[in-house]
Amino acid sequence: MAVMDTIQREIIEEKMEQEMVALAEKLFGKTLEECSDKELYGVLLGLVKDMMHNTIPISGNKRVYYISAEFLIGKLLSNNLINLGIYDKVDSILKGHGKELSRVEDAEPEPSLGNGGLGRLAACFLDSIATLGLPGEGIGLNYHFGLFHQKFVDRLQTAEKDTWLEKDSWLTRTDTSFEVSFGDTKVVSRLYDVDVIGYEGGVNKLRLFDLESVDEGLVKKGITFDKEAIGKNLTLFLYPDDSDEAGNLLRIYQQYFMVSNAAQLILKEMKEKHYDLHTLDEHAVIQINDTHPSMIIPELIRILVEDKAFSMDEAIDVVSRTCAYTNHTILAEALEKWPLEYLEKAVPQLVPIIKELDKRIREKYEDPKVQIIDENDRVHMAHMDIHYGFSVNGVAAIHTRILQDTELNSFYKLYPEKFNNKTNGITFRRWLLSCNRELAALISETIGDGYKKNADELEKLLDYADDQEFLDKLAAIKTDDKVELAAYIKEKEGVEIDPNSVYDIQIKRLHEYKRQQMNALYIIHKYLEIKKGKKPSVPVTFIFGAKAAPAYIIAQDIIHLLLVLQDIVNNDPDVNRYMKVVMVENYNVSYAEKLIPACDISEQISLASKEASGTGNMKFMLNGAVTLGTADGANVEIHDLVGDENIYIFGKDSETVIGHYEKADYVSKDYYKKSPVIREAVDFIVGKQALASGHKENLERLYKELLNKDWFMTLLDLEEYIEVKDRMLEDYLDRESWKKKVLVNIAKAGFFSSDRTIREYNRDIWKL
Ligand SMILES: *Cc1c(COP(=O)(O)O)cnc(C)c1O
Repeated sequence: MAVMDTIQREIIEEKMEQEMVALAEKLFGKTLEECSDKELYGVLLGLVKDMMHNTIPISGNKRVYYISAEFLIGKLLSNNLINLGIYDKVDSILKGHGKELSRVEDAEPEPSLGNGGLGRLAACFLDSIATLGLPGEGIGLNYHFGLFHQKFVDRLQTAEKDTWLEKDSWLTRTDTSFEVSFGDTKVVSRLYDVDVIGYEGGVNKLRLFDLESVDEGLVKKGITFDKEAIGKNLTLFLYPDDSDEAGNLLRIYQQYFMVSNAAQLILKEMKEKHYDLHTLDEHAVIQINDTHPSMIIPELIRILVEDKAFSMDEAIDVVSRTCAYTNHTILAEALEKWPLEYLEKAVPQLVPIIKELDKRIREKYEDPKVQIIDENDRVHMAHMDIHYGFSVNGVAAIHTRILQDTELNSFYKLYPEKFNNKTNGITFRRWLLSCNRELAALISETIGDGYKKNADELEKLLDYADDQEFLDKLAAIKTDDKVELAAYIKEKEGVEIDPNSVYDIQIKRLHEYKRQQMNALYIIHKYLEIKKGKKPSVPVTFIFGAKAAPAYIIAQDIIHLLLVLQDIVNNDPDVNRYMKVVMVENYNVSYAEKLIPACDISEQISLASKEASGTGNMKFMLNGAVTLGTADGANVEIHDLVGDENIYIFGKDSETVIGHYEKADYVSKDYYKKSPVIREAVDFIVGKQALASGHKENLERLYKELLNKDWFMTLLDLEEYIEVKDRMLEDYLDRESWKKKVLVNIAKAGFFSSDRTIREYNRDIWKL
């Protein structure tokens, strides 16, 4: 159902100013003029929550339950105002009282409920599900301190707790509470709901479970806490350190806490509607987002057998027809395999079910690769999902192909009908309408508003490829965004950057497969060239943003190198007129919303075959950046859409890379020895200058890693990367042809709307 019809909206808009004034008085005893930005945020939070008070979530005979360990939802105020259609009205009311809505938006704390792309995808999906009017909800956990807050101290990353929850927030405490039993203890949960407001569409809910007895005081220095105090710690952090047994057990406890609550909630909703649980699959579809929620399968089977008098066969049958699995990675270390021994300690009630599920597979299939419990007694969560779910999807065309042909080939041979591709998408409401209002306005003025609900209409922009006035306006908006970002970076990072330089941006989690280190080696190479007197034809600003998992040592070392380069380059008067380096602190969704509109070159340089899809690549394209990338993930589909002229692809392809892994014949030192350019750049890491700015231990460790291991083959692609990036920078100087590249990228981005992705999920998997 629509949030409100037009007549109702007009009445509400008339009353809105009065309501805001009244709320300011009630909450703070102040006039709107007297309120701080933070207080005005409280006023608008109250206003939206009041408006949502009487709405009923989208209903239907069948619902999707999207279970995910992460929902990287970002700040909600601006998006909720846009989706309710009241952004401009609120903006002008505030202006009338001498206030700036954009400053009020900045005062909202960003929810810390996710880590990276997988969590951001879940958030984009919730927006699209509600916008398309589909009945569904997200289910996850309410982490009090999220992942962590990143600070740089002495050019090293430090992690602090990320305090984001406030007394008044988008969360609404509900009466729903469940008991969750572990082997030796029992805890009580509490459900909090967040309204998910679709664009001119319906409303759904994100359901976040918290631990009723959670104790924030458990957290000591930084992000350390007693990992064994299960009754107090389950919802403190997302992905707590798992480098020891207690950490592994805690992850299992958390996951089970999530799925036990999810299962109880789903069955409660089925009961309220008087559905026969034997027809569960006709009323519910459970989308398992990566393997963190995989225990929902044995848990549902357990409940149906133990409490609902199902036979084992019946329970397995109906659960298998209800659950669908999304694979997000082929990185072996990211595919969860829990030792049976740990599961016996944390969730002994699931072990007999998992053994039974495994036994049935062994009876049917001889191939040891498809067993759930391997010869080392480790439980492969993905294997359980594939056997006992009805759908397995990858997240970009090339990723799904690699799953079918290589990584999951044994499974594909058993169940070809289960495999399908759903290329990821992003919500254009946040990643264009909200983060780049100027560009959205220009597009609306040029081709109308239709693209906001039907993203394919962006293609109409192609008619303006030779319209000088339009191209100039597009370029002017990019310049404005670059000026704005420069001011923000000056304020936040204390670094001055030149809006006339090319903005080359790589923002994403820090991981060797994403190869921030390759970008760093390019920077070193450029630096050395300039020192030798080879002046570049255009100045460049290299911008990075990334958090590294606290236990991931080499990733920390790469951050260190980037901060060392920032110090060396920016403080060298021979060089800093031509290039600057900025590593922004605590990269998150809000920062992304400021960086992406200002980007010229989008760095998507993962080792081919390793980035399942990427979604940052899509956000950049939509905002008129040109991609510099490998033939990996959704880059391949971007390439197909925009054509050779409008993207820069380099590097060895996925077949070649997979071949190197199979033959184990990649030797990074050979590349180092062969190429003086590579040698010079790599040696710089442990040269005098770097050691004077940074720490020997970190820099030497990284140097050795690159020379002796380089598991993600940085040196394999480095020379071609340098060559193609240099060519791209030359091409940038042909301003008129660059403007056309920008236009084509925006015009072709429609395919990457998450509305398209969700329509496909619904058409092929959910069938709501
Ligand atoms: C989109 C997004 C990501 C994912 O970026 P990739 O480049 O696809 O890895 C990660 N973090 C944030 C904050 C994002 O907005």
